[in-house]
Amino acid sequence: MMEKAHSYAEEPTKTTAGYEGGRRLRRGAQALEKTACVSAAMSENQEDFGGRDDCSEDTIAAISTAIGAGAIGIVKVSGPDAIAVAERIFIPARGTPIQPGETYSLLYGRVVDPDTDDVLDEALLAVMRKPRSYTREDVVEFHCHGGVAAQRAVLRLVVQTGARLAEPGEFTRRAFLNGRIDLAQAESVAAIVAARSSGALRASVRQLDGGLSNVLKGLRAQLIGALAQIEATVDFSDEDVDEVDWPSLADSVDSARSGVLQLLRTAFLGRALEYGVRTVIVGRPNVGKSSLLNALLMRERAIVSDIPGTTRDTVEELLEIAGIPVRLVDTAGLRTDGDHVERLGIARSIKAMEQADLVLAVVDLSETWDEDDRRLILELDPERSIIVGNKADLVENTEACLWALREFVSRAQRRVHAVSALTGSGLEGLRSAILEIVTGGEEFHLGEPILANERQRALVSEASDRLEEALAGIAGQAGEELICEDIRAAAEALGLITGEELTADLIDEIFSKFCLGK
Ligand code: GDP
Repeated sequence: MMEKAHSYAEEPTKTTAGYEGGRRLRRGAQALEKTACVSAAMSENQEDFGGRDDCSEDTIAAISTAIGAGAIGIVKVSGPDAIAVAERIFIPARGTPIQPGETYSLLYGRVVDPDTDDVLDEALLAVMRKPRSYTREDVVEFHCHGGVAAQRAVLRLVVQTGARLAEPGEFTRRAFLNGRIDLAQAESVAAIVAARSSGALRASVRQLDGGLSNVLKGLRAQLIGALAQIEATVDFSDEDVDEVDWPSLADSVDSARSGVLQLLRTAFLGRALEYGVRTVIVGRPNVGKSSLLNALLMRERAIVSDIPGTTRDTVEELLEIAGIPVRLVDTAGLRTDGDHVERLGIARSIKAMEQADLVLAVVDLSETWDEDDRRLILELDPERSIIVGNKADLVENTEACLWALREFVSRAQRRVHAVSALTGSGLEGLRSAILEIVTGGEEFHLGEPILANERQRALVSEASDRLEEALAGIAGQAGEELICEDIRAAAEALGLITGEELTADLIDEIFSKFCLGK
């Protein structure tokens, strides 16, 4: 990304003749200096870049909408020169320039290259002055026509006029460094961009509100209070300080741990929202796997046919159950004989099963079941699979059939469901059964704080382990310093989620995962 940024940024300096060449060169040097300044700061600890002060004074720009043809494309510019850049290249149709102090305004006009007077695009210009903007800096957005060429041309002109290309996530990084949002909120911005279901979106928006951050800050404050209690006695042990009140300390550590465990229980949901629940549909050819996939999706996708073994490859579709994205994978029919192509399909099915969060094993209720069915079902993890008896419409007594099926697989505890992909009967029950496995039967509310990604889950899990050790230490009357160390480590882990504790590497890692223009 940086290489690309430089190649763009250097371009203007090669064509400086006649148009503020000096200014551009200065800007280029400044940009490099500032980049160096940011990376130097980022490679140090938090104190070294003065808390969250933003040391970057350069103005950054990027195309903020998805690259490709669309109705509009937005070029976003942020930094001290954002308004000056707009003043130079945007001519408002109203005839008066951007007014001093004018903010939260949307102007209609044209983007014009001041060197050549070429009109690059007709556009809307949004002006948002600091501090009331996404980055807390002056921000302008050019809402251009959607074609890639128009957006690139405007971006190029913006860069020639004094901005440099933004790195991935740099706008959000500035929002964080300027204290507008914390790290957990910044991550929720990334999650919102990536949200694949209405539930994921809702959870991320709630997180952007600071829901998770508030809970984490509360827990961390509780732990710091506990630390202060012990450290007072350690530091001033020669003086007349009260002994630690161990029972009350154990209570507060225990209560913080309950809060941490409560958060950990949301991990499954965060994971499901982040990745989707990978659900594989397996079964012998012709039992109705493709039909079931279609019925669950309520549309035609997989090819349905009555020639055994026609689904040769895997087909993946996204379904939503109670806001949770479920990735349904239809596999080639599992069959122990068959031709070479089909055997390849079967190998893929087995691999897909191994990588699945959940398996729907389909059998045909109207037929006799054979060893293939039994072998398949017995291979499944009962905790993560549902046996789906399909074609219930073809049998007279569904309950008796289900009972016989349970007997056949000789495992009473397995989840067995009767459905008809043809008539749709039993599908609601199947959706509920899927949801129950995904949530582990836990109630969940998408509006509650949720651990949104692996980083957050690992840190909360670390906090939980350290608090458990601290509690064991208190119970076993371990030394005060050891107990302090555990509590401190737990508080640190929680602080790393919100960014109250942070390291430069961490910031780099988090923001590098963002897409350009965010
Ligand atoms: P796959 O090979 O397991 O993917 O099976 P398909 O979905 O291609 O279905 C095989 C045949 O069974 C097709 O003719 C479907 O119309 C039929 N079929 C699938 N589900 C049902 C069902 O619930 N009831 C009935 N009566 N027929 C079904």
